[in-house]
Amino acid sequence: MDFDNTISVGNVSIELRNEFAPAIWREMEKEYTSGKFSVEESNVRQYALIPFGQSQIQSFVLANCYLKDGFSEFVETCYTLGATPVIVSSGLDFYIVPLIEREGLKNLQIISAKGSFHKSGIEVNYFGPNGKQISKGFKESYLRDFKAAGHTVIYFGDNESDFVAASEADFVFACDSLVQYCKLNSIPHKEFRDYFEAQEILVEKFDSFN
Ligand SMILES: [Mg+2]
Repeated sequence: MDFDNTISVGNVSIELRNEFAPAIWREMEKEYTSGKFSVEESNVRQYALIPFGQSQIQSFVLANCYLKDGFSEFVETCYTLGATPVIVSSGLDFYIVPLIEREGLKNLQIISAKGSFHKSGIEVNYFGPNGKQISKGFKESYLRDFKAAGHTVIYFGDNESDFVAASEADFVFACDSLVQYCKLNSIPHKEFRDYFEAQEILVEKFDSFN
């Protein structure tokens, strides 16, 4: 499961850069959306611009950011069905973890970029399934690892950073631009708006996934 704008309402990472990064992040974002940098490289560049501490960032996130309706109920339903929900996000641990823990979901596995706070800015690192540092293809590298271990992968995502992983998954739950991508590329998918809806679809289709 992707996190930003898939589990969260809106894109927390963009809200953070809007609030804490100097305006040049928008130029860097254009270089990412035009394909000059991977999402991983772009996050390394953009978070390095943010000279704020962890407590300020987390206070902002907890005061302003929320998860889509029904997420904690959805996670419980996954466990009941025998599925293991895992967040694999190219976003940052320091905003994903507090938002997930606020929902009481302390055991939910979170695989994401790791941020460390320095006076000059936030250092971002990505480690692949083999523990080695990587600079692109983070989400799909974990998807391939799960598939290689024999798992059926049901992928949840929202945008271009999910396209590769979605095209290799067994089934996709899509919102925003990922919906159109799945349609255009004949990828088996369902569109969902919140996690009460996702839960209904999952329960209905679950037997067909195994
Ligand atoms: Mg996203």
